[in-house]
Amino acid sequence: MKVLKFGGTSVGSPEIIKKVIEIAEGENDSCVVVVSAFKGITDQIISTSTMANDRDPSYQKEIGLIRKRHISAVNELITEQKKEAVLQVVNKMVDEMSDLMYGIYLISDLTPKTMDHILSFGERLSSYIITNAFKDAHCIDMRRFIKTNSDFGKARVDFNQSNKNIKEAISENGGIYVAPGFIASNEKNDITTIGRGGSDYTAAIIASAINADILEIWTDVDGFMTADPRRVSKAHVIEKMSYSEALELSHFGAKVVYTPTLHPAYNKNIPIRIKNTFNPEAKGTLISRNSGNHSASPIKGISSIDRVSLVTLQGSGLPGVTGISMRLFSALASKNINIVLITQASSEYSISFAISPEDDKIAREAIKNEFQVEIQINKTIGLSIDKDLSIIAIVGEKMRNTPGISANLFTSLGRNGISVIATAQGSSELNISVVIEQKLLNKALNVIHEGFFLSNYKELHLYIAGTGNVAKSLIQQISVHRQNLLKEHNLKINIIGLINSRKMLFNPEGIDSEKYDELMGKAVKSELSEFIKQIKTLNLRNSVFVDCTASADVSDTYHQLFDQYVSVVTANKIACSSSYNNYHSLKEKARKKGVKFVFETNVGAGLPIINTINNLIRSGDKILGLEAVLSGTLNFIFNTISSETPMSKAIKMAMEKGFSEPDPRIDLSGIDVLRKLLILSRESGYKLEEKDVKVKKFLPESCFNGDINQFWKEIQNLDATFEKERLVLESNKKRWRFVARLAKQEASIELLEVDSKHPAYELADSNNIVLITTERYKEQPMVIRGYGAGAEVTAAGVFADIIGIANL
Ligand code: ADP
Ligand code: ASP
Ligand code: MG
Repeated sequence: MKVLKFGGTSVGSPEIIKKVIEIAEGENDSCVVVVSAFKGITDQIISTSTMANDRDPSYQKEIGLIRKRHISAVNELITEQKKEAVLQVVNKMVDEMSDLMYGIYLISDLTPKTMDHILSFGERLSSYIITNAFKDAHCIDMRRFIKTNSDFGKARVDFNQSNKNIKEAISENGGIYVAPGFIASNEKNDITTIGRGGSDYTAAIIASAINADILEIWTDVDGFMTADPRRVSKAHVIEKMSYSEALELSHFGAKVVYTPTLHPAYNKNIPIRIKNTFNPEAKGTLISRNSGNHSASPIKGISSIDRVSLVTLQGSGLPGVTGISMRLFSALASKNINIVLITQASSEYSISFAISPEDDKIAREAIKNEFQVEIQINKTIGLSIDKDLSIIAIVGEKMRNTPGISANLFTSLGRNGISVIATAQGSSELNISVVIEQKLLNKALNVIHEGFFLSNYKELHLYIAGTGNVAKSLIQQISVHRQNLLKEHNLKINIIGLINSRKMLFNPEGIDSEKYDELMGKAVKSELSEFIKQIKTLNLRNSVFVDCTASADVSDTYHQLFDQYVSVVTANKIACSSSYNNYHSLKEKARKKGVKFVFETNVGAGLPIINTINNLIRSGDKILGLEAVLSGTLNFIFNTISSETPMSKAIKMAMEKGFSEPDPRIDLSGIDVLRKLLILSRESGYKLEEKDVKVKKFLPESCFNGDINQFWKEIQNLDATFEKERLVLESNKKRWRFVARLAKQEASIELLEVDSKHPAYELADSNNIVLITTERYKEQPMVIRGYGAGAEVTAAGVFADIIGIANL
């Protein structure tokens, strides 16, 4: 025989109840259908009783609503023939409940015993209506068969008695039985309930008593999932799990099965299948003795308890004193306080345990009473209670044989700025649990899920500053490659925020990269500090700030961003070429916080220069010297000037092509190259400041002193002189190259006249070249050359840096 349990979610509306009936009538053999109260009714009964207890007369209106909901279910589900009779019974039950509530209202007294009695109407009503909605089924009153003690609200089941009763009540060929879940009675026949979510348990008790072939738990999700799907959108269904795994996951909050359910099923080795009433075709999850560990992940799932308090006893009175734990836990047990997790420092100097926040007060009193001498008189033990915390547990049988699980857990959390307040590992090594701040719960669950379930995709959340050429090209590239990245590389890129000097825009769900221009048009006025504040408030995992500006204000925010565990990818050279101190402290902070600070595009746009230097050093090499043409703009200008194209025109062309900085003097003065050389030298291990670099300018100071209009005038005046010098150069078969050098700790930049033997002689267009001399590459330096300027290649470099972060 089978037992099928349909939860509140599966009996929420008449439409879905019709599906339930279809599923049960589709069974070939006899079966038992256990049902919960209609969705939300148990909660509504509790709140209505509380209103009555508080002498709030509007409780009556609530009863009216409860009545209406059940009557309308009868109208939709029951045939005309039976309707009148069924309505009469339903109304009678609601009247009885109403009378009880009135009693509570009159004397303002709501005992746990009365509460259980009133709560029973939820399941009694639903099971009665559903029985009558079947063509042929009989209702069995579980109150008579399941016997419990008198712990109202969460009564303990007497299995001997209950098994006997159930076996007598249910026969192998009795057709369809419908049974209310959740309710039972004590030896005096007072109604009891067996804990919230207890219909699952009822079903397991019946399954165990009749030795059912299988227990099916029908709910509103496709199965037991790797995490609560309401919190982790990437959670997926687990095909198989063991009773122990299900037990741990449900103990730590996975509501899909009520924890005690697993015991009777385990004892009788009855498999449980979780199924979706809304999608019966889905295979669901099989819970049995067999863990069925086929997945790549060492863990089965993650669950969480949203709200706990952590009680800590600490002090010199603890170590070595035997019996402290025993006294502590006896004191708590005597007050019926449930302990969710315990950790003890190895020095025995402190002991912490997590409890439900509702128990805070009673726990504090109980401990103070028990340890009155130690806490109040001798003051050798201190007691503290931390609130607003959550517990997360990772669970899986495979964990036992896999090293490095804790490391993965702690790294995932640490890298995202989530500190672990306490941790515990089950002695069976089936779970590791951590206590964290409640406000970080969602982020933590998602981060851990990503860390352990690699088969799924990884997500990056981007905040992009600047909407100039580089940013535009970057957004376009993201837009074009998004699908492919997801499909081929399991990487999902979401643009969450955009800011330029005028406007800023946020969408936590992701900004449509094809419409960003239009959206920015309608966005709010930009305010950089507000933008950074929002990043902090959103607190999304794997956040990356992408700086495509040339603004010092923007690069000044990096420290704050690292403090928030946000990685930075930047094409903006200002931070890394500012004071050595600032450069160094940014790198240090990023390292300490475990986030990334990537600026490959600061030098040579998309060329892999910084990365190469880093790799050489990491592998034990030493950089002895650098020689480089680092200005795409200047190289373009020197390759372009001719008798037809004077200097001034070549500069204009470089601007039009988007090579130069917005103000070309930054390039012409050598400042841009200076910044790049500083960055390369620093990455090569040399502590250089701006003043240490000797720059020989090739234009007179008058070009740089005035405003931009004056500059254009000055430069036109120089065109003729340049042409004269160029003709001499040409006749000597030489070319101009603006060369930056680091040699023997000396850094210099100057315009050289190079002949055909020089590696930069053939350097075409706006290309860059870098020659790296190292201990290993001494005779023949390593050469990197290629396009070194332009929005497209810079954006491609930034994009590559972003993707690189995801792979770490
Ligand atoms: P029912 O009314 O059918 O008993 P519950 O609300 O008690 O349903 O349990 C089902 C809900 O459990 C799902 O809707 C889901 O939101 C939640 N849930 C929490 N953790 C998990 C998990 N790991 N897998 C599946 N569902 C989960
Ligand atoms: N109706 C009860 C509750 O809401 C039992 C159940 O749904 O399993 O807790
Ligand atoms: Mg449930």
